[in-house]
Amino acid sequence: DEHTEKLRKKLDICVEGGFLPAPILSFSSLNLHLKLVQNIEAAGYEMPTPVQMQAIPAALSGKSLLVSAETGSGKTASYIIPVIKKCADCRGTPNQSLKKPLAMVLTPTRELCIQVEEQAKLLGKGLPFKTALVVGGDAMAKQLYRIQQGVELIVGTPGRLIDILTKHEIELDDVRILVLDEIDCMLEKGFRDQVLQLFTALSQPQVLMFSATIPEEVKKLASSVTKDVVRISIGMQNR
Ligand code: ADP
Ligand code: MG
Repeated sequence: DEHTEKLRKKLDICVEGGFLPAPILSFSSLNLHLKLVQNIEAAGYEMPTPVQMQAIPAALSGKSLLVSAETGSGKTASYIIPVIKKCADCRGTPNQSLKKPLAMVLTPTRELCIQVEEQAKLLGKGLPFKTALVVGGDAMAKQLYRIQQGVELIVGTPGRLIDILTKHEIELDDVRILVLDEIDCMLEKGFRDQVLQLFTALSQPQVLMFSATIPEEVKKLASSVTKDVVRISIGMQNR
């Protein structure tokens, strides 16, 4: 509506390709678990950043997204918060004895995966939310064992994930959310086919894609993994 349009204009948020819920102005306007709100406060996040204002309600609505916002604008929390909420909601219901992963985050580097997992642990503390890191440089057997013990989220690089999936049976059919972070960098590093291969191992998840820039190849990849992707861009330089 008109109010939403005005708000987006004021916040320099552009939405294209579909309808999304209005931006939120505080973390408390969402129906988040008390523990999650407390963790957000403890992390020192007083207010959502513009990308979080739009991407968090949008991701919670179930839409697949292609989000661009500059480096340092808080993109990680804009997908980690919805991922934690959806996982905790799902595990909170009975009949969830089989603990198969519910979400997967792919990033181009080991270092970035480590940072993302750290933020996920911080914001997911005290909730039914466990994480596994699947990157090179650490023993694969340990990573596999961790997944087999039951985790909600896997954070990994495409190469290492393909490697572990080729060698071991890991059930990914409950993965409902796939996040591709720094998708521009992922393509630059030549991970396109590996990302597509991992995508086909999942059963039509919601896809959340994040990047500082959206070159043409990113748009192409986005449309090949999902037909109804909504674009969110923050700031004039991204349009
Ligand atoms: P990006 O992925 O867009 O480059 P990050 O997700 O790495 O940005 O976030 C950049 C920094 O901002 C991190 O140190 C993060 O903890 C912090 N941050 C994220 N969201 C908020 C917020 N709502 N309020 C204050 N700091 C935040
Ligand atoms: Mg980032």
